[in-house]
Amino acid sequence: MQAKYLDKIIVTFVLELNKELITSEMSIDIQKIRSDFPILAEKIYNKPLVYFDNAATTQKPQVVLDKLIEVYTKYNSNIHRGVHFMSNKATVETEEARNVVQKFINANQSCEIIFARGATEGINLIAQSFGEKYIFENDEIIVSEMEHHSNLVPWQMMAQKKKAKVIKWEFTDAGELELDTLKNLITSKTKIIAVNHVSNSLGTINPVKEIIEIAHQHNIKVLIDGAQAVQHIKTDVQDMDCDFYVFSGHKIYGPTGIGVVYGKEHLLEEMPPYQGGGEMIENVSFEETTFNKLPFKFEAGTPNYADTIALAAAIKYISEIGIDNIAAYESELLHYGEGKLKNIPGLKFIGTAKNKTSVISFNIDGLHSYDVGMILDKMGIAVRTGTHCTEPVMIHYGITGTVRASFAFYNTKEEIDKLYDGLLKVVEMFA
Ligand code: PMP
Repeated sequence: MQAKYLDKIIVTFVLELNKELITSEMSIDIQKIRSDFPILAEKIYNKPLVYFDNAATTQKPQVVLDKLIEVYTKYNSNIHRGVHFMSNKATVETEEARNVVQKFINANQSCEIIFARGATEGINLIAQSFGEKYIFENDEIIVSEMEHHSNLVPWQMMAQKKKAKVIKWEFTDAGELELDTLKNLITSKTKIIAVNHVSNSLGTINPVKEIIEIAHQHNIKVLIDGAQAVQHIKTDVQDMDCDFYVFSGHKIYGPTGIGVVYGKEHLLEEMPPYQGGGEMIENVSFEETTFNKLPFKFEAGTPNYADTIALAAAIKYISEIGIDNIAAYESELLHYGEGKLKNIPGLKFIGTAKNKTSVISFNIDGLHSYDVGMILDKMGIAVRTGTHCTEPVMIHYGITGTVRASFAFYNTKEEIDKLYDGLLKVVEMFA
């Protein structure tokens, strides 16, 4: 290629890059956003909090805290069965929250949205109920090697109960799942594939659409664990065509104790209830029970309506900022962070997939992750250390754990600079 054309391409590329940076910086008003999260003004050991533990749980904006107070001070009342004003109001707000979630993940119908305690309970629900109906002796369940324990243990339990097998889909050393490997694992016995949308310990964004397409060619169902994805990238369950999708409210700026299970209507219809009790019934006599329609069939007992309503407030809040703006800004943080941290002497990244979001996992030669985390803590910097509930990932790399810095859209490059300076001090201390 002639040099003059090369120059032109480089100039255009730089212009495009700048345009992209400007767009994402302009669409995120970071000072305004930070002021929406009261906890970010806290001081830890008299130092400003740098919160990089967002993959464990996210902080809550004022609108979510206000919503919880609103529910408990204005219309707290058990839902669905009351005739009085407050019960009706709480019911309407809860069902409106279901519509908010439906729209957010683009589910076809609101009856495909089931509220559970979190992603963990959601996966247990699917494993138990789907497994009860469709998994039999010698059947196979493919689970990726990079799953959170909550997307492995429920399948192990179901497999044990039904004498089925859990098949490991290994990832590469970069932390990527390869489709060819999956194709080789699929057999006529495979019933379901369980895989995360984004890995919480490696940050890998998995090619879920392609995985689902391959699975469906063989009439295999797919459960996507979206606990580490929905807060970072656009989620469209109809576009990806997954059979089940789960996520937790507390990781998407909502309260703890609430989560979402999406399932295709025809599958949920065929599956047996997960738990028995109030709400999930149609008629009960002492001898037998008929079950309620979807989604209530899977929501036994008094639902966590207060946190459900506050979860909807969280989703509305991030939807106003725009998930695409969030994704662009967080991608900038990730690349800035990786660019900085690679200069720390002895630092090795764990998880170097091409397609990643918001997680930097690493170790420093000769240092234990706990020591690194504890010293950073004294500087007001919160990171997570250890296995991140993904022991098979650690076994893959032959390590005991990692230091994990995980970002949210309220984090800044200045905070990453503090992490960098902090790590330099840690390295000096141990030198
Ligand atoms: N899956 C992934 C990928 C996660 O990151 C987590 C939480 N860290 C879970 C599942 C479990 O979520 P919860 O503990 O909220 O049920």
